[in-house]
Amino acid sequence: MNFLSDRINSLPTSATLAMAAMARELKKQGKDIISLSLGEPDFNTPEFIKDAAIKAVQENYNSYTPVDGYVELKEAVCLKFKRDNELEYTPSQIVVSTGAKQSIANIAQVLLNPGDEVLLPAPYWVSYSAIATLCEAKFVEIPSTIEANFKITPEQLEKAITPKTKMIFFNSPNNPSGSIYTEKEYIALAKVLENHPNIFILSDEIYEHINYGTKHFSFAKIPSMYDRTITVNGVAKAFAMTGWRIGYIGAPEWIAKACTKMQGQITSGANCIAQRATIAALEAPVSNIQYMVKEFLNRRDLVLKLMKEIDGFKLNIPEGAFYVFPDVSFFFGKTIKGHPINNASDFSMLLLQEANVATVTGDAFGAPNCIRISYAASEENLREAIKKIKRVLS
Ligand code: GLU
Repeated sequence: MNFLSDRINSLPTSATLAMAAMARELKKQGKDIISLSLGEPDFNTPEFIKDAAIKAVQENYNSYTPVDGYVELKEAVCLKFKRDNELEYTPSQIVVSTGAKQSIANIAQVLLNPGDEVLLPAPYWVSYSAIATLCEAKFVEIPSTIEANFKITPEQLEKAITPKTKMIFFNSPNNPSGSIYTEKEYIALAKVLENHPNIFILSDEIYEHINYGTKHFSFAKIPSMYDRTITVNGVAKAFAMTGWRIGYIGAPEWIAKACTKMQGQITSGANCIAQRATIAALEAPVSNIQYMVKEFLNRRDLVLKLMKEIDGFKLNIPEGAFYVFPDVSFFFGKTIKGHPINNASDFSMLLLQEANVATVTGDAFGAPNCIRISYAASEENLREAIKKIKRVLS
């Protein structure tokens, strides 16, 4: 007997988290697994942020927090938006949440009605489609190709819009492709949206600082888009604070208010200590975290170089985030080490079973020809993982 709701029964498990859990379980069983599945910096949270958290504990920050976040943090977020993104927000437009994932879920819950359509330029992060589905909205993929550097064109956007389109989710730098939309490209997409005033834009900028040279551009900076764009960000990726769970939005005030109302019924305000630590993170100069970005760039170049030595991977050059997203369709239809490879999931499982390397299948990201490899891992592990993959494929 299945007593669970239709809602949960039809919800797919997060592919990123599932693969990470599987890798953890195999390790526990004694297997020598290298996990390149999760998008999680392998650095420690910087000392100055940890110090701020310790101080908060000592100063007895232990009570419930305001649902939308401490006012000092919201002010720090406003300054950050101004400093890094040239965006003007006031604290009443900011909502702090338990991770950017909750920020996105809040926005979807407050804007989407059953039957609304949400445009997802593919590839897209695995939880976008699930979050839209939870709101009984329909997600509509806009495909892209590795040849187009995994970016969509204004023509594709125009074609995907219907009278039911309510939102579009942009994500640059992109998880999983690492692609970054330039200002010019975003302005061209905005031109299309200008003709459709009822479409809202969620701009997920969580990888903003993991950027190897293309100038980051915030969608809300386009004046005609500001009033219907929700800018999402957080501290997880840039500050190696994934487990601290702090995300935030800058949004039109009426949307921020609605998100606060939603959050007030579900989780209340985010963790008190993590919020105090986040103030320290955001107030510090961005140069404080550049050592991590530099290291990610070295690893990207290493991974690309080593993977190019293996026949069959089609690669683009990711400009940000910490993933490579090779097209592996060359291997489809082949049998490798006794495993028939018919799709990216088969390929990803082959790497797990025969090379002991955990990756994530592209299906979950709306790109069924690809797999995602996270290079947020030590150089030693990356070298070893690719050596093992090469052995299995040759
Ligand atoms: N966002 C990260 C990833 O894509 C963390 C896991 C998740 O929440 O999906 O790997």
